Amino acid sequence: CLPRPPGRVPVPARSCRSPAGAPGALPPGEYRAWKERAARDPAGFWADAARGWLRWDSPFHTACQPGSPAGSARWFLGGRLNVSVNCLDQHVEKSPNRVALIWERDEPGTAVHVTYRELLDLTCRLANTLKKYGIQKGDRVAIYMSVSPLSVAAMLACARIGAVHTVVFAGFSAESLAGRIMDSGCKAVITYNQGVRGGRTIELKATVDEAVKNCPSIRHVFVAQRTDNKVQMGDRDIPLEEEMTKADSICTPESMDSEDVLFMLYTSGSTGKPKGIVHTQAGYLLYAALTHKYVFDYQQGDVFGCVADIGWITGHSYVVYGPLCNGATSVLFESTPVYPDPGRYWEVVQRLKINQFYGAPTAIRLLLNYGEEWVKKYDRSSLRVLGSVGEPINKEAWQWFYEVVGEGRCALVDTWWQTETGGICIAPRPSEEKAEIIPAMAMRPFFGIVPVLMDENGEVIEGNDVFGALCIAQPWPGMARTIHGDHQRFIDAYFKAYPGYYFTGDGAYRSQKGYYQITGRMDDIINISGHRLGTAEIEDAMVSSRQVEADPCAFAFIVLKEQTPHVDHIKEELKTIVASKIAKYAVPDHILVVKRLPKTRSGKIMRRLLRKVVTEQSSNMGDVTTLDDPSVVKEILDAYQKYKEKSSS
Ligand code: AMP
Repeated sequence: CLPRPPGRVPVPARSCRSPAGAPGALPPGEYRAWKERAARDPAGFWADAARGWLRWDSPFHTACQPGSPAGSARWFLGGRLNVSVNCLDQHVEKSPNRVALIWERDEPGTAVHVTYRELLDLTCRLANTLKKYGIQKGDRVAIYMSVSPLSVAAMLACARIGAVHTVVFAGFSAESLAGRIMDSGCKAVITYNQGVRGGRTIELKATVDEAVKNCPSIRHVFVAQRTDNKVQMGDRDIPLEEEMTKADSICTPESMDSEDVLFMLYTSGSTGKPKGIVHTQAGYLLYAALTHKYVFDYQQGDVFGCVADIGWITGHSYVVYGPLCNGATSVLFESTPVYPDPGRYWEVVQRLKINQFYGAPTAIRLLLNYGEEWVKKYDRSSLRVLGSVGEPINKEAWQWFYEVVGEGRCALVDTWWQTETGGICIAPRPSEEKAEIIPAMAMRPFFGIVPVLMDENGEVIEGNDVFGALCIAQPWPGMARTIHGDHQRFIDAYFKAYPGYYFTGDGAYRSQKGYYQITGRMDDIINISGHRLGTAEIEDAMVSSRQVEADPCAFAFIVLKEQTPHVDHIKEELKTIVASKIAKYAVPDHILVVKRLPKTRSGKIMRRLLRKVVTEQSSNMGDVTTLDDPSVVKEILDAYQKYKEKSSS
């Protein structure tokens, strides 16, 4: 337990307002004071924040040793709490009729509003149903559902009874679902009869049936109704809503240790099976809530619109746990950016009066191709902050998002973080009043985050205007605690490369002014003529050409917006652009036009697969379960073969 130094500066408080007209900016004295306190005494800083932010059943002391993030960070040791009480009961006591969730269903114009009281009721009934069927504290439960109030209640119901949820994106195949269920040893699955997305129905229950054939740990499948269609029900299937109607609407929350597991979430590993990243109760919740408030300048009464699915960490931290802990109104977006037309996001912003809009660069890049009319048709005056996450946002997409969507008056925050970090680690906000935001840069570490850049010899790179491997030098409450069932893999993946530091796997540039820019995954770094280049940099240059929609590497794979007979001309033009925007040495030697790139369901390009294609290691592709459509691999391999034959003839 670290002693709290005298003369502390105030820690972030829920009621703090940013000055009008500067979303996310704090008065300079306050910002500096928090930053310095977090740097000087991180454990004390977080302990104070935890006292002010979370509701505890019993006291805690922090037990985190700054400077030793080697996979053993422990926070708020001994303190007990329940995450669902923090996300629901405390708000129901004060304002039961405040809207907790607005479910923007796939069917346009049919939004459903759910108050905190209603969400607590749903959660307790669902929790009691789980208990009735033998789910206990510590048991694992898979949630294979599209985003909805019921799927949020399923997460919170697990939290209420101390069960561990693992949400699997409701688009993964039966095989991927089965792999995750088996690895985590789930006792039950919660699903819908069918899902609905982009006007199409998705057979969720049928996929679960297929998956659980091979999962002996599953005792029950709880089936809720998203559509009116009947699905086949077997012996272990339980009609969820029917049971919930019969269940008690009061469920005493389990008192949990601050370090008990809250959830695990699978993320793809570069080899072998996906990793079940484990997050715990208090530290995760505190970090999600604090970053939600300060990065997005959330003020009470705001409607917070994060359009991520709950199947990803962004959905966990910024659709569910962060906003609900802060008593916010959180939007659940079930549809796609182009259904029924490319104006969907902005029509929703207008109708629901969204104040913060948080999305992915891949969707922004898609939408900018459709033109400004789709945006300008709708009133976006409610927007104050825009956010981007998931991959580097290229400058063109950033500018479009900022100028066209945000009319140049909203703060646009490019937020860098990972499943493993639990919440945003680097973002332009919070910052001092009037502090600049540089396009397409994550810029500033959050309070208590200490980024460092490392060179090839494992030495810390000092000074500015430098590139290196991005590490974090001291632990923070939201960091993952382990990989389920394989702590050694956790240590090997994140703490071995640079002993004493958390290694993110990403490369970064620290600018002249000391701001951070993420250059992409380190496995995407390429060495050309002795120069180390992040693929993001070359991509940013090439994407500025009007003909290209895509993301190349030194062997560049590009997707053309339209078919054209002038491919050779375009290739030459691209080479000229890279030479002039970066340098001659960065010009790709090969440019191959393909129909599609291998993208994950969350829109990230799996560049390591492209690397395997060109290095001819296609027999050893590793884990491809996160691919949106695995058939793309064969398509690209065929195109590469043809290219090779043509080049050698
Ligand atoms: P995931 O854990 O699936 O959310 O993926 C995390 C990875 O996404 C990071 O390690 C980065 O490579 C990438 N990423 C996330 N946000 C950003 C961002 N704002 N800029 C650049 N890369 C990002």
